[in-house]
Order: sequence, then structure tokens, then C-alpha cells
Amino acid sequence: MIKMHSISTIFPYVSVVVTVFLITFLTLVIATEMINVALIEATPTATIDQLSAGNVTDSIKDRAIILTFDDALKSQYNNAVPILDKYGFKGTFFVVCNYVGGDDSRMSWKDIEILRTEGHDIQAHTMNHKNLSQLSAKDLEFELGESKRCLRDHGYNSTIAATPYNEGWDNSTVIGALAKHYELARNGNAGLMYLKCDKWYHSTQTDCSTLSNNGTLTFANRYSIRGWSHNFYDNKYKQNETAIFNEFVQAINEQQKYNEESQEISAIPIIIYHRFNNTWSPYTTTSDLFEMEMKYLYDNGFKVFPMSALKFDNNTNFLYLPGGEESNITETDLIASFNVALRED
Ligand SMILES: [Zn+2]
Repeated sequence: MIKMHSISTIFPYVSVVVTVFLITFLTLVIATEMINVALIEATPTATIDQLSAGNVTDSIKDRAIILTFDDALKSQYNNAVPILDKYGFKGTFFVVCNYVGGDDSRMSWKDIEILRTEGHDIQAHTMNHKNLSQLSAKDLEFELGESKRCLRDHGYNSTIAATPYNEGWDNSTVIGALAKHYELARNGNAGLMYLKCDKWYHSTQTDCSTLSNNGTLTFANRYSIRGWSHNFYDNKYKQNETAIFNEFVQAINEQQKYNEESQEISAIPIIIYHRFNNTWSPYTTTSDLFEMEMKYLYDNGFKVFPMSALKFDNNTNFLYLPGGEESNITETDLIASFNVALRED
């Protein structure tokens, strides 16, 4: 009786301890599962191992951008270039030959030479900034051929053109003239440039061939590389910097899902800027906003490419960024330098 009594006295305590243990255990199991599910949903291409390893190069692969500046404007030189230099970013400057040195609002050849010395990219934006779709064959040839020669005469080998007003991407005569003189052209508007030209919702093309199988001009190709017009939002929001900044951040992060999926830079935003001034006029970005944007790129590990880093593969008909592959090389280099460091130690 004494023994029975002691067991029945102890039993309630034992059962409470066991129950508490079971509840705690089950809660932990469920919580761990929920965290795993959340991680997998948040990063569809990364495994838990990759996440815990903290893959640094992923951020470079996922985030790339090209910054372009049109029309050889002095305000770019005075107000944007110092900010680019501050963050070590290189821009691509599309120069209209007959604008250079024209008046106080334009850069001089000396300004452009300083840009080149600092490592910025100098490319062609025609002779007189006319809508190429509206020109005679002779004038079209002059605008594209002569601007290449003009830049060459000043010591610049331009391999890329930007069409004025982003017009001409749907005109086979313009595309033919671009192809005659240049390797690539920025031409037309879109939020992102897909380097394999394969993600356009209104196009079935699977590469960047200039002509489709039936001989018609494709929507996107090496001579109609799309750009994102910053000034569209400058004009829309009239220096409401928060609103424009939010559009910019959203636009430049759109690439991530494509780049994570392909594990390389397969989509890139190409931003088009014009004037920089803190008082509003059309086609003007404030210097303060530009500083915010460049800081965002810097803080978030974006890699800024010059337009001339873009290459075209004639076998695949894909555009590609050799710099995008450098992030793999960097990873190998990191391991190599780590091994060297081990040996040296
Ligand atoms: Zn222009």
C-alpha cells in the first residue's frame, strides 16, 4: 500500500514534465520547419547550405546596372560626374558631335577628354540629334557614319550608338544603317534589357537575332538595346524625389528574379539621364536625387558596367557581359588567393 501510494503521488508530476517536454519539442520542430519553408520561399534558387555559407558573389551576379548620359551636357560634367567619381562608378556618355563646345550648356572636347581619362565610356549619339526614322538615306548615313568619323578624329573609337529620342528600333532602314557602322545600339525604351532577348511579353523571339525567321525585324536585338528613361519619371513627378527614387529602386531590382534564376546577369537596367540641376525643368534630374541613387547602388552592392562592357556572341546571338562572368572568376580568385595565403603562412 505504501509503494502504490508513492507511485500515485509521483505520477501527476511525471506526466506534467513529460507533457511540457513534448509540447516544447513539437513547438521547436514546427518552428524549424516554418523557418525552412520561409527561407526556401524567400530565395527559390539558394539552398540552406548556400545561405549559411553567405555567398558574397551572388550579390554581384544578381545586381548590375548601366548608367548612360546623353547629349554631352555640361550639367552632367559639373553635377553628376563628381558623384560618379565619389563612388568609383563609370558612366557611358553618348555624345552628339555637333553639340560639343556649342554653348555653355554643352561639354567641350576637353571635358570629354577628362571623362575618358577618368575611365568613363565615350560613345556616339549622331551628328545633329535628328529623328533617324524621318531622314533620307543620305542624311541617315551622314548622321551615323559621320558621327563615328567625328569621334574617331577626336581620338575615340565608338562602337555603340544611341538613337536620338530612342526612335528607330522599328525601322529596318535605321537598323541597317546602325549595323553598317556600329556593333551595338541603345534604341527604344523598356524597364530591363534581357540579354538573351527572350523575356519580352509581346515577342516570341528566343535570341537577339536582328531578323526573325520570316525576315522581319525583331523587337529587340543588338541594334535595339532598350533603356530606362529616368526623365520620364522626372517629368512625371516634377522633382518629388521620394516618388522618383521609389520608381528607380523598383526598376533596378526587377532584374533579380531573372539573374537568380539563370545564375548570371541575364537582365540589366540601362538608365538614361540628361540634365542635372536642382531647379526643375523638363529632362532634369536633381543632383540630390542622383546622389541618393548612387549611394543606393553602392550600399546595395550593385556592379556598374559601362555600355562598352556589353558584347554580342555571334554563335548564340545573345548579348552578354564578360564582367558578369568575372564574378565567377573573382570567386575562383578568392579561393586561389586564400590558398596562396595558406602557403605563404
Ligand atoms: Zn539625346
